[in-house]
Amino acid sequence: MDAPSIVDTRFRTALRRLDAAGRLLRIHSRVDPVLEVAGIMKRHDGGLALFFERVGEYAIPVCANLVASPANVQAVFQMDHWAVRDCMRRALEHPLKPVVVPKGACQEVVITAGVDVERTLPVLLHAAKDGGKFITGGIVLARDPESGVHNASFHRLQLLGPDRTAIKLDFGRHLGVLYEKACRQGRPLEIAVLLGVDVSLLYAAASSGMNVPLDADELEVASGLRGEPLELAPCQTVDLSVPAETEIVIEGAILPDQMVEEGPFAEFFQIYSGVGPSPVVEVRAVTHRRDPVYYDALAGVHGAMLRKYIDEESALKAIRRAVPIVQDVNLTPAGQCRFHMVLAVRKRSPADEGLQRNAIFAAFAAFKDLDHVIVVDDDIDIHNPMDVEYALSVRFDAGRDLIVVPDAKTHEYVRVSRQGQRAKLGVDATVPFEEQEAYRRVPFLEVDMGRYETSRGPGDPRHPALKG
Ligand code: MN
Repeated sequence: MDAPSIVDTRFRTALRRLDAAGRLLRIHSRVDPVLEVAGIMKRHDGGLALFFERVGEYAIPVCANLVASPANVQAVFQMDHWAVRDCMRRALEHPLKPVVVPKGACQEVVITAGVDVERTLPVLLHAAKDGGKFITGGIVLARDPESGVHNASFHRLQLLGPDRTAIKLDFGRHLGVLYEKACRQGRPLEIAVLLGVDVSLLYAAASSGMNVPLDADELEVASGLRGEPLELAPCQTVDLSVPAETEIVIEGAILPDQMVEEGPFAEFFQIYSGVGPSPVVEVRAVTHRRDPVYYDALAGVHGAMLRKYIDEESALKAIRRAVPIVQDVNLTPAGQCRFHMVLAVRKRSPADEGLQRNAIFAAFAAFKDLDHVIVVDDDIDIHNPMDVEYALSVRFDAGRDLIVVPDAKTHEYVRVSRQGQRAKLGVDATVPFEEQEAYRRVPFLEVDMGRYETSRGPGDPRHPALKG
């Protein structure tokens, strides 16, 4: 299936398509924004999308787990896996400039006086030992103070007061680079936090910074995914323009001269991140649609699934450039779509032998956080864990086919890492070229079960052995 030239990725289209496909669980009962909503999200992580209609005393509903599973993604895009990947390829290869319109639905309601984020928005407390309530589904938009290029990325914001939050800027993140540039100029960095955005921007903002580099504009990547420009509306109190149909926008600035203790927070590693210094955001305005939806993203499978499709596409491009025999890659959800990759190659001649191992190094070079890579022949379905384990069981020899690179760079949260360094593991589970004929899996007759008269369960036992 090929992707159509224009894709409708509007947030509300996504909600309606999920609902129509039976993939949106509507929760009518009143639920508590303290722990209860996150508990329900965790129960459904990697599954159904959720729509909490009544959260505490808030008038605003909460949407979560939007594209947390392949079934949700396929319902939102109305496409199969390969067409979705096609959209991601287009986003990376053909970014489009957005257009600015005079006004957007995101500003039907504008609050600039007496701003109180916690009173206005159903911000959640996710886990009992979290340092406070966190905005987790917010895409932070900012402009590079030197180049003028936009950046859009996910960052957690911890509520500190009515118009104050902390913002987490991890090692090497682009927003951190922009903030340091602003600090050198002695100026605050203006930002807009977007909640409930066009799905194309969810993916662009979740993409790996190594493959959508600092000089690439995520708003243009998102527009490229859609196949037509995003419409942007100018903000009220900051010099930025935001996607006009965004549900909720928090306008403000990261201050150059204040740090606070941020955390702990139940992070995607399923453990609490520690407490550490973080910059402070001064909130200047909250704007929203007349009947907005608040968006929250649990730090779990959902966050990983946002990265999956776009990073698979950029990984494939980067690895193939170095090693053309690579056919496909899978960033597996249990590896957070970040730490584990399964890679399929097709060796065409004895001269290709060994290239499967180069592919392991190309993968490590393309993604800093990748720690474990398994390479298999392309008769293995890399999206099926049973098939991958089969390859490990009969095609892999731990004495010869294990490649260990000590003390390379990884993600600094990884428990076993020492200041972000750990061993990388490559597993070569391919069959040597000259043995491929002997190891070809036995083909059986292809059958079409639709051609047979069958039955099961109670009712129709025809053979005497099944009666009585
Ligand atoms: Mn970026």
